[in-house]
Amino acid sequence: MTTIAANLQAVRERIAAACVAAGRPAATVSLLAVSKTWPAAAVRDAAAAGQRRFGESYVQEAVPKVAALRELDLEWHFIGPLQSNKTRPVAETFAWVHSVERLKIAERLSQQRPPELGPLNVCLQVNVSGEASKSGCAPGEVAALASAVAQLPNLRLRGLMAIPEPGDDIATQRRRFATLRVLWERLAADGLSLDTLSMGMSDDLEAAVLEGATMVRVGTAIFGERTYQ
Ligand SMILES: *Cc1c(COP(=O)(O)O)cnc(C)c1O
Repeated sequence: MTTIAANLQAVRERIAAACVAAGRPAATVSLLAVSKTWPAAAVRDAAAAGQRRFGESYVQEAVPKVAALRELDLEWHFIGPLQSNKTRPVAETFAWVHSVERLKIAERLSQQRPPELGPLNVCLQVNVSGEASKSGCAPGEVAALASAVAQLPNLRLRGLMAIPEPGDDIATQRRRFATLRVLWERLAADGLSLDTLSMGMSDDLEAAVLEGATMVRVGTAIFGERTYQ
């Protein structure tokens, strides 16, 4: 077994144990393997071990990687910061974008989505840590942004995403994830049909699953420590 295959199995076991602790069926949480900074060969190893969904954060790195792996028919999720001059390659390359935080970006993604690919699945990124983090819309802006994004023809609004500041204890982590869940439940109560709560990473996936995550985004625990050039 490769290291990546063994790591993947360990992460799946962590998710399964967290689901047991939360009293949730294991099938309600899906695993996004975050392959940013890792070469196509690492993605091939993970795919050979049964992983289908992969997350990338940098457009320039991701586009050639996705092209090199086209024959594997994987599902690619964009999870990084997105500027308006990079929306076209994202709309043309990915099945999902988790990091929509402004209407202008969503409008461009909708305009630039090739119709033959079907709607682009999107999550709105919310800043649940206040001043500590600059990414994501403010919690008070989510409802208006969600109802505007839900109107765009070539997008499908799936849910919310957050990257909370690392919490030093599980109670702090859970509080931040709970903030996102409550926002998500309010949108659902307002009539939006959402199925995705994208939260939890290598160090805090258990807290996220306890607070209702439906997709955890895990990089380091699968591929190892990243080194940035
Ligand atoms: C890098 C990244 C991850 C993965 O983080 P790990 O701590 O390596 O598991 C998850 N989500 C986003 C948005 C990321 O940029």
